[in-house]
Amino acid sequence: MDRELVPFKKIIERNGNIFTLQKQIILKIILESKEHLNAKEIYKIVKDKNIGLATVYRNLKEFHELGILKELNVNGISYYEMKIYSRKPLHIHLKCYKCDNIIDIDSRGLNLEYLKLNKIIEEKNNIEISDIDIIFIGLCSECKEEGKWRDQ
Ligand SMILES: [Zn+2]
Ligand SMILES: [Zn+2]
Repeated sequence: MDRELVPFKKIIERNGNIFTLQKQIILKIILESKEHLNAKEIYKIVKDKNIGLATVYRNLKEFHELGILKELNVNGISYYEMKIYSRKPLHIHLKCYKCDNIIDIDSRGLNLEYLKLNKIIEEKNNIEISDIDIIFIGLCSECKEEGKWRDQ
């Protein structure tokens, strides 16, 4: 098994589940993806490996419940990305209302500002924040540029 998958094997087995080959394949896809994928998109990649759509849904649900994946809900569709051992640091999302893409806003400076804001919110409200789920809605830079040309 891929070394990169070892920490996930531990989490899954600690919870009494089996880290099946299907799970390894699905997780590896999400780990390597630069996009946010939904179940159907993952299914398209794995269907020739004899993995059914129901299995994809079931495994994604398990990964999410175990805190391995982050789920982003956009227009009733769940998109997934790594929550732990991610190659990307904490980031905020923009959903483009024109092309439906979910874009990562992951400038390092912004992350630090965001963590500071987290601290303030925690202290002011006496709460503990374990995760963030902010999705800005707007236009991605490509669609924004397109609009500019059209309006001229
Ligand atoms: Zn767009
Ligand atoms: Zn993201």
